[in-house]
Amino acid sequence: FFEARNVNLHFGSFHVLRDVSFEFGKGDVLVVCGPSGSGKSTLIRSINRLASPLTSGSMSIQGCDLMSLPRQDLYRRIGMVFQRFNLFQHLTVLENVALPQRRVLGRNRREAADRARALLDRVGLADKADTYPVRLSGGQQQRVAICRTLAMEPELLLFDEPTSALDPEMVGEVLQVMRGLASGGMTMIVVTHEMGFARELGTEILFMEQGQVVERASPVDFFASPREARTRAFLDQIL
Ligand code: ATP
Ligand code: MG
Repeated sequence: FFEARNVNLHFGSFHVLRDVSFEFGKGDVLVVCGPSGSGKSTLIRSINRLASPLTSGSMSIQGCDLMSLPRQDLYRRIGMVFQRFNLFQHLTVLENVALPQRRVLGRNRREAADRARALLDRVGLADKADTYPVRLSGGQQQRVAICRTLAMEPELLLFDEPTSALDPEMVGEVLQVMRGLASGGMTMIVVTHEMGFARELGTEILFMEQGQVVERASPVDFFASPREARTRAFLDQIL
């Protein structure tokens, strides 16, 4: 379904991604972890072409080369949820979820609003539809941001540390939504330090360090018997 092959990326003379290769199937949840600065955000941003162009290598989704896909198609097919939710502050919750559907998918006002309501209902926010983001908690805002992305009906969802800007008591509600997506068959790449989530829902875990994929394993093997000393050191630090 998705394939990255020998991806290299530079920021000026700095070699950020070094020969990164991996692939995964439809419905998989790929978890990416690793120390700060290891290139996790750059990796998933490069999938959506939000980082500089690749120096070499390729990425494809269903055999379609991502680097030559028109941007509009790319954004429609691959959704991204950021650490900071970036909601439009001057729009209500409903409008936040409805507007991109009208702009990008050309849905009419009615269709977009109906779809937005259904999604908000799914994440437990039906009663907040007419509220402005400033009135919501971080966890609620992040759930709205997830709805906004889901409304595009993407084939692949990218999450960059979706819970790390949240107060601890709000992490659970966002993970709960992600758990629902995973069990509903959504294909996702999730950069996270939530090792509970990784263990429970990850199909595979990529451990990155200094721009390289150091280890790639099933959650069971990753936690029980990491092959690499560097992975072990990382796990000792965070678990
Ligand atoms: P964190 O866990 O802190 O989010 P990360 O694994 O996501 O870290 P990246 O943000 O991908 O790491 O950064 C990888 C490296 O690239 C870092 O050394 C960073 O300083 C550098 N870097 C990131 N963005 C840029 C940029 N736009 N220009 C130059 N260097 C950058
Ligand atoms: Mg990052």
